[in-house]
Amino acid sequence: MRNALRRAGRVFMALCTLVVVLAGMVYVVGQVMGIPVRITYQTVASAELPEDQQPAPALPTDSAAALPTGSSADFGSVADSNAAATHAETAAPAVQNVVLFIGDGMGLSMLATVDALAGRRLAMSRMPVTGLVRTNSRSGPISDSGAGGTAFATGFKTTNATIGMTPDGQARRTILEAAARRDSFATGIVTTSYLTDATPAAFLAHVRDRDLYDPIARQMIASRADVLLGGGQPTVFTDSLRRAARRRRFAVGDSLEGFRGAGARGDSAARWLGLFPERAGRFDKMHGPPLPEVTAAALQKLRQRGERFFLLVEQEGTDAAGHINRLPNTRRDLRELDRAVAQVLRFAARPATGRTLVLVAADHDTGGLALTDTEGGRATVRWNTFSHTATWTPLLAYGPGAQRFTGVMPNTALPRRLARLLGLEGFPQGETQIREAR
Ligand SMILES: [Zn+2]
Repeated sequence: MRNALRRAGRVFMALCTLVVVLAGMVYVVGQVMGIPVRITYQTVASAELPEDQQPAPALPTDSAAALPTGSSADFGSVADSNAAATHAETAAPAVQNVVLFIGDGMGLSMLATVDALAGRRLAMSRMPVTGLVRTNSRSGPISDSGAGGTAFATGFKTTNATIGMTPDGQARRTILEAAARRDSFATGIVTTSYLTDATPAAFLAHVRDRDLYDPIARQMIASRADVLLGGGQPTVFTDSLRRAARRRRFAVGDSLEGFRGAGARGDSAARWLGLFPERAGRFDKMHGPPLPEVTAAALQKLRQRGERFFLLVEQEGTDAAGHINRLPNTRRDLRELDRAVAQVLRFAARPATGRTLVLVAADHDTGGLALTDTEGGRATVRWNTFSHTATWTPLLAYGPGAQRFTGVMPNTALPRRLARLLGLEGFPQGETQIREAR
């Protein structure tokens, strides 16, 4: 028996060697003859096509809010003209509040594929104003979340893996920091990733490498943000760092219930630092309660703390699913984001909540997903890569000032246009100071 196994093993190894040698010969002969031979791998998945697709949930009846109101009509021109900005600063800002959603890795092809496979079309697909974003970084056509997040946050292009600074090492003020400097503004970040991950970090930290989690965490705690809700790696958010956060008037908790309890105990003055544990499931990188729930809690808190607010909401799962070419995870996590967007659209449509602009953007595409065939009620989808692609990303807008976000634009245009609508003069900023909590 043992000998038979040994023999089978030897035959198997010989076959493997033969395959490798043959592949090598084909490659060498191909090279010599000038025929390019490439060894490629493509993940193919199949999914059931919805029989009768329901339309996307209707936008609230007040969708006229997407049209310009008052002075924001001046923002009709596509060019980022300074004349419009000067005029706007003399009047009340066109936009009072912003909720900026970032679907990490949610390129146009991923969004379209998930929409095509959904039993009900995505709520995002009903957002009345659309633009397209070129996501190239200073490293080339393909961006990572560090450079992509930095472009959205600071209005400057940078090299991949850099956070909140230009390649020359100059820290640039982010739009979230610019808003937080105004007393009227309450600001916050919600993410399903860990808080120190590249996208949230790009809005509050300035470091040369996205893996420098300790300085990123210290800078986030030293910031003026009112709400920070995401995953908290225990190795980064140590007891001493948690104490530093408490000294800076953060209530620190690992669940939403804890914060609600603190509010009931009259501790509503505290800021929120939510360090959620990882959700169950391998390769997921997802943290905390469902995104709509966390987003709603953050919105409520921000409204208590300021006359105006700026909230960043990131879904990390779309990127993580793209990196492992998992269609079910992609669909699940993109739809979770869609539910959070739908909820904020309903909120923004209520006149009592003020002039709230809702934007949905993506820092880059991950995976290069495409629906390529349909047969017998099933669809075939193909992934192109386990990494990022140069596909344009969607920019969807609803609310006052939304019409400023049309056309094909560089990712750096997003915060620049936003700053003008919010009346944040002096943005983008030449250089800014870095502060770290001790
Ligand atoms: Zn990625």
